[in-house]
Amino acid sequence: MILTVGSIALDTIETPHEKSEDVLGGSATYICGATAKLADTALIGIVGTDFPDRYSQLFVDWGVDTEGLEVAGGSTFRWSGRYHSDMIHRDTLSTELGVFETFNPVIPDSKKKAEYIALGNIHPDLQHSILDQVEKPKWVVADTMKLWIDIARDSLDRLISRVDAIVVNDEEARDLTGEISLTSAAAVLLEKGPSAVIVKRGEHGASLHMGEDLFYSPAFPLHKVFDTTGAGDTFLGGLIGWVAKKDSADPETLKEGIHVGSCLASFTVESFGVQSLNMANSDGINKRLEVLRGLTEVPEIVL
Ligand code: AMP
Repeated sequence: MILTVGSIALDTIETPHEKSEDVLGGSATYICGATAKLADTALIGIVGTDFPDRYSQLFVDWGVDTEGLEVAGGSTFRWSGRYHSDMIHRDTLSTELGVFETFNPVIPDSKKKAEYIALGNIHPDLQHSILDQVEKPKWVVADTMKLWIDIARDSLDRLISRVDAIVVNDEEARDLTGEISLTSAAAVLLEKGPSAVIVKRGEHGASLHMGEDLFYSPAFPLHKVFDTTGAGDTFLGGLIGWVAKKDSADPETLKEGIHVGSCLASFTVESFGVQSLNMANSDGINKRLEVLRGLTEVPEIVL
């Protein structure tokens, strides 16, 4: 089982083309949208009484165990962002914590032995609290964001030393280490304790740094990118989903997992929220996996 913790949000998103309000979002939502396609998933999170029933139902439809989803008096976490024309950079317009402000995650006894833990982007103290409650998971992966690097650095540093893998984007890797080269940044992060560091490079794909193993994967080539919100979370979900499905976190499985993550993320960016990810079926995913694999295949070259 994969235990996922993170934010569950109502997002208002502005892209250069369109605006949408109260879209189902949050790091845990996108992670679950991906993991549920691959392995048993249990969610730990909090929403307010304003959280629409149709959104709660979506998790149930995905087969996600929502015993750990708390409904508290108050408002659901809300985030609002506006994308620049490159659809990569964005400005956060507002963050309203709502019920998240007093969130104290409690893992039901039945989930404490979860083998795989996905620590979605939330305050690192909350990520610690999950690790304090679980019993010997096989593999833990964590995500973070610039906000926590800026305001919760000590807690984040301690967290990095407690997890098996950390997923960061290029900017976060540089911010966390002060290194310009992403290869050096990954090496510095590896020294802090995790056995794997995965650096997301937006439309350029992702790299895996694991001991002597270095692996680069392209992003799935799309003509139209609609909304990149949640791409990183979906990527992480695909990665840990594959690790759980294979019940292995060796380098080869992680490489495959990065392809699965990239592929699922390519669906997420084709719509607002989880709409497109939700509709992706095995056939569509397998076709993209095949394309992705072919992108870097070359015959042996000898001069
Ligand atoms: P990503 O595009 O992968 O960075 O993830 C986007 C999701 O992160 C959105 O759906 C937001 O609701 C959520 N989010 C934004 N800011 C925060 C925050 N401070 N804590 C937790 N989740 C957040």
